[in-house]
Amino acid sequence: MSEIHDECGIAAVALLDGKDESLIPLLYSMLLKMQNRGHLAAGFATFAPHQKKCLKRYRENGSVNHVFSPFATLKDQYKGTKGIGHTRYAVSGSTDVECAQPFLHRDGHIQRRFAIAFNGNIANYRERKEALAQKNIALETTVDTELLLYEINEELAQHADNLPSVFANLAARLDGAYNLAFINANDELAVVRDPLGIRPICYGFKDGLVAAASESVALENIGIENITDLPPGTMLLVKKNDVSIVPYTTKTGRAHCMFEWIYFSNVCSMIEGRSVYEARRALGHLLGKRERERLAGVSEVELAHDYIVIPVPNSALPISKGFAEELGIREEEGLIKVESSERTFIDSAENKLEKVANKFDVNRAVLEGKKVYVIEDSIVRGNTAKSLVELLRTRGKVREVHYRVACPPIKSPCFYGIDMSTFQELLAMQTEGDITKMEKLLGVDSLVYQSVDDLITGLGLRREQLCLGCLTGKYPTPKGDELVKEALGNYQAGIKKRTYE
Ligand code: SF4
Repeated sequence: MSEIHDECGIAAVALLDGKDESLIPLLYSMLLKMQNRGHLAAGFATFAPHQKKCLKRYRENGSVNHVFSPFATLKDQYKGTKGIGHTRYAVSGSTDVECAQPFLHRDGHIQRRFAIAFNGNIANYRERKEALAQKNIALETTVDTELLLYEINEELAQHADNLPSVFANLAARLDGAYNLAFINANDELAVVRDPLGIRPICYGFKDGLVAAASESVALENIGIENITDLPPGTMLLVKKNDVSIVPYTTKTGRAHCMFEWIYFSNVCSMIEGRSVYEARRALGHLLGKRERERLAGVSEVELAHDYIVIPVPNSALPISKGFAEELGIREEEGLIKVESSERTFIDSAENKLEKVANKFDVNRAVLEGKKVYVIEDSIVRGNTAKSLVELLRTRGKVREVHYRVACPPIKSPCFYGIDMSTFQELLAMQTEGDITKMEKLLGVDSLVYQSVDDLITGLGLRREQLCLGCLTGKYPTPKGDELVKEALGNYQAGIKKRTYE
């Protein structure tokens, strides 16, 4: 329970003709396309104005397909005009269904009977938990969604008729990344993006409905074509059938998480007007440009005969394509990801090499005797990369392994919802940023990372629009800067502890 940190997907939908219909097909179609954001659990809550029990919630551990498997029954039972949904990621061990979302707050007062689905991480969780404890509110889980449940309830007690004020007051005391989908028993739905827009969220309209989701592919999957990013510090508000986009705070900025483009988001999504696929391919081209200088003495014949490029599937596929296009080197499928539903068995393998070998097939026919460029999106802990290199050498019989990484070295923890929160777990920290040490540890012939400047160029945004905290150690919120000092102190003292618990 103490290691629960969500990196999730949220969805919301409101039918604007006021008629109760089953919301299940819409919620299912959206959540299914965000399975990449979490497969541990899924759930939804619906509001039906004409039913006695107007606000209902359903959640279960497992993939979206598993959770929605009693589809016909759910379709019949969960009719209404508004709904929110959630798909959850959490690190291993945190499998308690009580941590699955949405969270539901039951109250006799209809405006305080509500459900929330959350994506992000509250960086000042500890302080806010203590503040609640002073009011005799004790949390039952370590999931920050529960904390938000009580924070929102406190605000609703004062401003039940004014949701923008509720979230403005929350923004004044919360630090971190938080996107929220909210519905209450008073026929209101709100989708809220944090003041810095760290995590993505977008919305769009289709005849008779408005919907929002963490990723644009989810909206496309229910037939929405015109999709808009919700600006930071803004909420989509639906009161009965009236829809408005409301800036709830003026203290806004931009600090979009660069990891969303590199690794986390669905490759077919658009974030802040930038295609995830094209961003990854551009990063591959930039890596290739740098490599051209290193290959100056190698002849065309040698390149064509001796070298191949292989991606680590799946997120590195477009990066590899860009890299191979740039250099004119043949791209091959040297590693094939095993599409298995048996995650539990794979994850229970005894050592990392065995786990990685279970997850990837090694295609010796294309690898044997070659000098191989392995294209990876990022290296966090280095364990997977190390095992892959071993497999390529022992099973693939490659001649050389040259690792090229689209994300610059990750030198610092994340406090905004990506699961890397201590210095100890980072390869770049274990090796003091020394590339030769990293090469040795991973067992590669060479290792090259993207530079931070090239990363920014590849993403096509300005430096000041991005969060680069884990690359530079400089964070976009005051609590991030405070937590990194604490995490560094813990690291130097040899204490392995997640700083925001
Ligand atoms: S610290 Fe890194 S992973 Fe975390 S939000 Fe910022 S860029 Fe993303």
